[in-house]
Amino acid sequence: MPHADPIAHGEHVMTVCNACRYCEQFCPVFPAMENRLSFAETDLVYLANLCHNCGECLYACQYAPPHEFGINVPRSMAEIRAHSYEAYCWPTFLSSAFRHHNLLTGLVLAAGLIAVMVGAVLIANEGVFPRPVGHGDFYGVLPHDVMVALFGGVGLFSVAVLWIGLSRFWRDVRGGEANSPTASDLARALGDVLTLRHLQGGGVDCPSAEDQRAPLRRWFHHCTLYGFLLCFASTSVAALYHLVFGWLAPYPYGSLPVLLGMAGGAGLLIGPAGLLMLRGRRDPALGDPGQRGLDESFIALLFITSLTGWLLLAFRERAVMSAVLVVHLGAVLALFVTLPYGKFVHGIYRTAALINYAMESRRTGRHGTR
Ligand code: SF4
Ligand code: SF4
Repeated sequence: MPHADPIAHGEHVMTVCNACRYCEQFCPVFPAMENRLSFAETDLVYLANLCHNCGECLYACQYAPPHEFGINVPRSMAEIRAHSYEAYCWPTFLSSAFRHHNLLTGLVLAAGLIAVMVGAVLIANEGVFPRPVGHGDFYGVLPHDVMVALFGGVGLFSVAVLWIGLSRFWRDVRGGEANSPTASDLARALGDVLTLRHLQGGGVDCPSAEDQRAPLRRWFHHCTLYGFLLCFASTSVAALYHLVFGWLAPYPYGSLPVLLGMAGGAGLLIGPAGLLMLRGRRDPALGDPGQRGLDESFIALLFITSLTGWLLLAFRERAVMSAVLVVHLGAVLALFVTLPYGKFVHGIYRTAALINYAMESRRTGRHGTR
C-alpha cells in the first residue's frame, strides 16, 4: 500500500537512515542526507530525485519490513518523486495526469492524435487522402508549414511547461542560495547522467531481487537515453538542412539525419522493450506500484514512435507511405504532448538534482560514493 503522506513517511525514513548511515557509500542520496539535520519537504524532494531506484539499500537494510521501522528507501523515494512531479506541474489542474496517466490513456491519446493527423491531411489535400508513389514526398502528404506549426506549437508548449516545473524544482532545491554551478559541477553532473553510474548502487550492479544483480537494467536505460538524444540530434540536423541549406526531406539513407535517426530508433526499440520486459521480473518491493501506469505509458509511446519511424523509413517509397506517415506523426505528437505530464520529467529533475549535488559536494568537500 502506498503511504498516505509520503512526505511524513519520508521524514521518518531519512531520520532513521541518518542515525544509521550504513549505506553512505551506495549513492549520492546518503552523503546528501548526512549534510542535513532535519528533513523538510524540499530536502526530501531533492533526495528523492537523486535516488536512481537501484534498490541496493533495501537489501542492505536491517530495518527493512517486516522490521517495525519499515524502512524501504527505494519505495519511499519513488513515492516522494511522484509527489514532486505533481507539486511542480503547470498548470496545476493537469497535475492529476501524473496519477491517472497509464498505458491505456497513452494508447487512446495516440489514437486520438492519429485521427487529428488524418483530419489535418484531409484538410490540406481538399478532402482526398494522398497516395504519393516513388519519391517519399512527405510534404506532399502534409505541407511543411503545417507540420512546423503543429509540432512547433506543441513542442514550444511542452518546453515551456518543463521549464516552469524545472524552475520551481530548482528554486526549492537550492533553498534560496543564489550561487551558480561551475563548469566542473556541470561536467560532473553530466558525467553522472551519461554514465548512469548510480544505477549500480553499491558498485556491483542493479539488483532485480535479493542476490540477483545484472547490468541489463542499466544497459536498457542507456539505450533509451542515447536513443532519445540521437533522435533529437537527427531532427535538429534535418531542421538545419531545411532552414539553412534548403535541402528538403526525405534525405538519402546514408545522410546524417537518417543515420542518426536509425541509431536513435534502434535505441528506442531495444531500450523500452527491455525495460518493459524487466519490469515483470523486478522485485515489486523496489518500486511504487502507483507509478506503474506512468512508466508503462512513457515506455510504450517511445516504442511506438520508434517502430512507426522505422516503418516510415522502410515504406517511404511505397504508396502506403502516407498512411504510415500519419500514424508516425500522431505517435510523435502524443509523445510531445505527454512529455511534461509523464515520466520524462524524471530525467529533467534528476539532472538538476545531480547538478545541485555536485555543487554541494564541492562546497562541503564530501563526495561519499564509490
Ligand atoms: S537503508 Fe537501512 S541500512 Fe541503509 S542507512 Fe537506511 S536504515 Fe541504515
Ligand atoms: S539510488 Fe539505490 S542505494 Fe541510493 S537511495 Fe536509491 S535505491 Fe537506495
